Amino acid sequence: MITVLSGGTGGAKFIQGLARVIAPDELTIIVNTGDDLTWWGLHVSPDIDSVNYGLAGLLSAERGWGIEGETFACLEAARHLGLPTWFQLGDRDLALHLARTEMLRSGKSLSEATAEITRQFGITAAVLPMTNDRVETRVLTSAGELSFQEYFVRERYQPAPLGVRYSGAEVAEPAPGVLRAIAEAEGIIIAPSNPITSVGPILSLPAVREALRKTQAPIAAISPIIGSAAVSGPAAALMRCAGFEVSFRGVAATYADFLDVIIADQRDAGSARSTDVFVQFCDTIMVSNDTKDALARAALSALDRARARELALVDSGASVGASS
Ligand code: GDP
Repeated sequence: MITVLSGGTGGAKFIQGLARVIAPDELTIIVNTGDDLTWWGLHVSPDIDSVNYGLAGLLSAERGWGIEGETFACLEAARHLGLPTWFQLGDRDLALHLARTEMLRSGKSLSEATAEITRQFGITAAVLPMTNDRVETRVLTSAGELSFQEYFVRERYQPAPLGVRYSGAEVAEPAPGVLRAIAEAEGIIIAPSNPITSVGPILSLPAVREALRKTQAPIAAISPIIGSAAVSGPAAALMRCAGFEVSFRGVAATYADFLDVIIADQRDAGSARSTDVFVQFCDTIMVSNDTKDALARAALSALDRARARELALVDSGASVGASS
């Protein structure tokens, strides 16, 4: 079993490739729920939905979220009724939020609701919310403290971020299956997701971070940063405000206590200098099925190499194991 830690956009694209390269039922995905919100009274789990839509072949390639060919009739009607519409929900997407909210209202946990939704979509990979408890990513900005969606969608990440906190994380329990998926995996991959607001909330659960430190499985992370910029979104500003260098090395540093290998883009190969973890360079930009599949294969081969070479974790001053 391969276990992936994922956010929404970058993670969902990566998982689409991985589910073609290995049998999907060999795959467990632990998904960020720090971005979850209540919208129009409905429980929305944007990252779980992106992963599910990706696996079900429904994800909009153009938007990177929601369903391909979606309509927005309800959103338009809601606008006329004076409801807030800065967070956009498509019509078919809305049906999913209604179904999930109904399941939660009837007493199911988010894990149970997610399992039922994946079954209905015909998904055989295990998609696990990181927790059934409420953990909320809060972004402290020059315009005050905002929820992640207020910062990202409503304010289009314009206010300068000053810090991020994961409200509720100290007391949250990992969802059923999460710790086992880390302990028993053959390999663990951290998707090319935002290290601070997508992977950070998952790692903010103390038991998850501890399990990653302890597992025998090799752990690889794919950098969402190329050169000194994020492929998309606010990852660079968020990393900077958290005190990390904006580079693949900075991404590796956010995972330093458990990471075995960082997968960085080949455009960064020239800048290889001593780093504390093994580096594998390849094309990390996912623009087609072929590039997604190739990145998935590269990640699996990085895990094989990490396993075979029994690479030490952080051995400061160690030379770079660079390869392309
Ligand atoms: P979010 O919840 O939608 O923010 O989901 P993610 O954190 O999974 O996705 C956003 C991150 O994915 C950003 O930091 C991007 O830099 C990264 N990303 C998006 N597309 C790609 C890609 O094709 N390649 C790589 N390496 N990173 C990507």
